[in-house]
Amino acid sequence: MGGSIRLGSVFGVPLRMHWSVPLLVVLFAYGLGRRTLPVGAPGHSPAVYAVAGVAGAALLMGSLVLHETAHAATARRKQISVEDVTLWALGGMTRMGRPKTAAAAFLVAVSGPLTSLVIGGVALGAGLGLHALARWAAVPAVVLLWLGWANLFLGVFNLLPAVPLDGGRVVQALLWWRTGDRERADLAASRGGQVTGVLMAGAGWVLLLRGAPIGLWIVFIGLFVMVVAGAERRHAALHTALRGIRVADAMTSPVTTGADWLTVQHFIDEVAVHSHHSAVPLLDFEGRPSGIVQIRRLAGVPAPSRETLRVREVAVPISQCAVAAPDEQLTEALDRVSLRTGMRILVADGGHLVGIVTGKDLARMMQRHTLRGGAQG
Ligand SMILES: [Zn+2]
Repeated sequence: MGGSIRLGSVFGVPLRMHWSVPLLVVLFAYGLGRRTLPVGAPGHSPAVYAVAGVAGAALLMGSLVLHETAHAATARRKQISVEDVTLWALGGMTRMGRPKTAAAAFLVAVSGPLTSLVIGGVALGAGLGLHALARWAAVPAVVLLWLGWANLFLGVFNLLPAVPLDGGRVVQALLWWRTGDRERADLAASRGGQVTGVLMAGAGWVLLLRGAPIGLWIVFIGLFVMVVAGAERRHAALHTALRGIRVADAMTSPVTTGADWLTVQHFIDEVAVHSHHSAVPLLDFEGRPSGIVQIRRLAGVPAPSRETLRVREVAVPISQCAVAAPDEQLTEALDRVSLRTGMRILVADGGHLVGIVTGKDLARMMQRHTLRGGAQG
């Protein structure tokens, strides 16, 4: 996520923190130290409440990390690659690959909320025990009770059946398991996510109007759920429409290519002006694909450098491009598309470039699907 810094790693998974997290800690520390503690454990100095407030907020962040770590660790056990864990204003987020089975998807999804519920139960128990034990322990007892309720809330809230919340992923996995059809499950779950997102934003707004500050947070989560569920729905619709189509059926061929050793100026004059695409695949000296260069990157090279800089130096190298074989399923190749190159798949056969699949090709295939009367997302 943009604007996040690396804090360290948990079980070998990079842990990142968004700039909005310190803000969240301050808000929680203020709520706990100024409102909850003076009522729950009266008779202490403001300094004691402040320290306890910050400690409670830090413990809550720690439990968020544990929630995400549970997702990440379960994913690892199911041989799913985990990229990183990020804490941000709306909680935590674990970026990982797609689970290969419905059972794996289910376990990865429930592990987080289960962890929150367990932490909640343990903290509540410890808080109640401490409360009964001694009067001097009133402050830590209230902190533990607050932490317990916050974790129970997190566990239950995350189980709401709205993709991308954990509960939505659980529903998605169950539908996948019941129907055996992953795309249909994704489509149904993302539709549910969109509807629930709207309802959440509405409910948050009502809470806010009634003077509950947490309403604002729920409005934001609702909007976030709406946007992500919408994107996932388009993704699922695309995958449904492209089902059974091979890469070769969708690709544009032949494709204009250029030599990667040319200077930028030479490349612009000889190659780029003849291309119909917004990016041109490059070939090395032996005729093998070596990368792809975006026209706007060429345009961004300052004039004095164009005569000396080689085009491969401003290109995205082949190692970071999505490459597919002609016989491969298009949907599988699509999962490898990276943000670096945008919606472009290089098609190679026996080390030779035979075509390219771009957003335009996909739009054409989607249109055909609609013409044939296929269901639209
Ligand atoms: Zn979760």
